[in-house]
Amino acid sequence: MSDEAVMKPIDLDQCQRMFRKGSFMSLGKPYECQCKEPPAYIAFERHPRDGGTQGAMSICEECAKYYRESGMVESSGPLYPVKQRDKEAK
Ligand SMILES: [Zn+2]
Repeated sequence: MSDEAVMKPIDLDQCQRMFRKGSFMSLGKPYECQCKEPPAYIAFERHPRDGGTQGAMSICEECAKYYRESGMVESSGPLYPVKQRDKEAK
């Protein structure tokens, strides 16, 4: 079973988009690091994955822009704005 089958809970404190860092220029293996911005949207996967899990993740304004521009809303799923009161209720 792969790690991808285990879905993380939605994090309303931090954008959950993962970036791939590093390249052939850095002479290192690429690694993933998480965006640190406060989330503005929740992205839901339209289709369940192979294991039957259906993902959702928090995503910030910047990443949401990228998400829309790269066509992921069509290919993956819609974005729902995080309600302001959800962020304050902690
Ligand atoms: Zn982000």
